[in-house]
Amino acid sequence: MSSSARTAVALFSGGLDSMLACRLIADQGIRVVALHFDIGFGISEAKRAWLEQAATEARAELHIVDIADQFIGEILYNPKHGYGSAFNPCIDCHANMFRHAERYRQDHGYDFLISGEVLGERPFSQNRQALGIVAKESAQDRILRPLSAKLLEPSLAEQKGWVKRDDLEAISGRSRKRQLQLVAQYGISAYESPAGGCLYTDPGFAMRLKEASRYTPPDSEEIKLLKIGRHLRLPEGAKLIIGRNAEENHALLEASCSRYHRIEMPEGLIGPVSLLQKSVSGADRALAAQLILTYARSKPTEYYTLQIDQTPITAQPLASKSEAAQYLILGA
Ligand code: SF4
Repeated sequence: MSSSARTAVALFSGGLDSMLACRLIADQGIRVVALHFDIGFGISEAKRAWLEQAATEARAELHIVDIADQFIGEILYNPKHGYGSAFNPCIDCHANMFRHAERYRQDHGYDFLISGEVLGERPFSQNRQALGIVAKESAQDRILRPLSAKLLEPSLAEQKGWVKRDDLEAISGRSRKRQLQLVAQYGISAYESPAGGCLYTDPGFAMRLKEASRYTPPDSEEIKLLKIGRHLRLPEGAKLIIGRNAEENHALLEASCSRYHRIEMPEGLIGPVSLLQKSVSGADRALAAQLILTYARSKPTEYYTLQIDQTPITAQPLASKSEAAQYLILGA
């Protein structure tokens, strides 16, 4: 069979390494189907547009696959191989994505899998041992890592001659020098995500998630909420989220939040959009009303009536925002 009839399935974050991995294989005349996995943060229109552009420049066909519920339910809170420096279970996450990709490959009768992993680029998840674990727990030698291929045992695709090993790379370590040479060679223009990297690696986000997982571990809806607003933990355990600006207020209004009540402000009072966890005690409910009023354009001496789950509650703001700050969750 000629190489032009072969198809590779790529793990595609849209970052530079995954783009180059696709391009190296596509340039050998192999069709590349790039799978981008949503593991909990959703795909905004801007992100989708950027992924499409990145895939086009990488000469790959983009498919977005939502595995958020499975990833959060089975991997995020109980990773066999632990976490990196934040809340990122990268070894388990990679193995999980490769298992999904392998099923996709088998279902479609495609030939092998690729990723942009680079030997030694990330100390926790891309050392030789971690790459071995990921392959062992997923698709074994069906996995080819084009950027480091010449430093690794030949994969099935190389052994069978589906790809030319000589045209693959021998990149290792954290320097991006060789990647940037390839960017220039291929004329790739857009390779930095405007949305930034994976939030599970972000220390502030990880702090919020760690804190929340001590109560009821967030599901996929709640993980999206962790990105938005001020987060406060009330003394009897309820979580309150308060928008900090118009953009966050809009995002909170749009968000799905089945574990939360949306609070209705009194008519005529300008204030933030806020969400209060449904499992809330009477004391936390009363304090939540005071806190929301504290972040609204309220007068300190006045009483206001808000609606929480269609039940009115009358309260006065706290004396100052610094009094409210004691309830803020770190990383918020
Ligand atoms: S950085 Fe995020 S997406 Fe990438 S492997 Fe780690 S947890 Fe998964």
